[in-house]
Amino acid sequence: MRPSFLPRLVNGPFDDPSLFIPFLFEKRAVIFDLGDIFSLSARDILKISHIFITHTHMDHFIGFDRLLRLVLGRDQDLYIYGPENFIRNVEGKLSGYSWNLVKNYTNLLALHVTEVHDDHLMTKEYVCQNGFLPASKAVKHSFNGTLLKEPSFSVFTRILDHSIPCLGFTLKERFHVNIIKNAVSELGLEIGPWLKEFKQALFDNQDPDSEFEVSCDKKQHKKKFVIGDLTKKIARISPGQKISYIADVVYTESNIEKIVELVKDSDHLFIEASFLEKDKDIAEKKCHLTARQAGLIAGKAKVKQLTPFHYSPRYQGEGHILEKEIMDAYYDTLKR
Ligand SMILES: [Zn+2]
Ligand SMILES: [Zn+2]
Repeated sequence: MRPSFLPRLVNGPFDDPSLFIPFLFEKRAVIFDLGDIFSLSARDILKISHIFITHTHMDHFIGFDRLLRLVLGRDQDLYIYGPENFIRNVEGKLSGYSWNLVKNYTNLLALHVTEVHDDHLMTKEYVCQNGFLPASKAVKHSFNGTLLKEPSFSVFTRILDHSIPCLGFTLKERFHVNIIKNAVSELGLEIGPWLKEFKQALFDNQDPDSEFEVSCDKKQHKKKFVIGDLTKKIARISPGQKISYIADVVYTESNIEKIVELVKDSDHLFIEASFLEKDKDIAEKKCHLTARQAGLIAGKAKVKQLTPFHYSPRYQGEGHILEKEIMDAYYDTLKR
């Protein structure tokens, strides 16, 4: 099965956190946290449509400037989500520059900034031509844990504790559509852009008895199918991918419970593991996890794949020890 999302950490485990999640069949990506993203190519950065920030400690948000620099002057809508006070943080960034020349730009760059509170969201919009002055007052929406809902996937969050509110994120694909290539050619069809439309029709819950037209060759000959029949012939539907990201949390009962619930059965969990268990007092003081604690959470949540990151620089050259500690705790907990 080829996954639809291909998550990868932008940097090594000792460098700033950022999880880049490109979509396999689209020129599109989402990103969790914006630490230093200079190692991400401009081409990749320009694929980003939605940005999810756990909290605004500098190592998680300094990459905002790099991203803004690249999208400036483009015709684009960028959606950005963060915790309490996030709107103030973004406005602080935007007011740090002079914007007297942007009114001449013909392309319309708009930022849609959403801040997450316990029981509601606040969204405020900014348009480049106005020098990023707020285009409207903040609008309040109801909130039940879902930040983004699209036909094929959703992004969920929980507010965690890192001495300040800090968001954990999960991206969940609704279901996965795998195309059987042989079956496509047996029907006399070619692999082509129509498959994207076909998948979209499935995610849009199109009536299985409705008609679907496929252009079968470059001469634009069309063949008609009933969607339900075509699905049975050329597609295998399986559970969707689940990718989770937890950065900067203190090890408390309340955090553990919320994280396990959010990331339960993830195909891939990316989790901070800043300190070694022998330094757990420092971890607690700095409101971070030890590798062992991160491994226990991952095991409890029965995630299928685990990648630690955000190692403290004090362990330079000892990354393998942190990795062993988290993996030992993970496998031990899984066995229980
Ligand atoms: Zn932090
Ligand atoms: Zn951090």
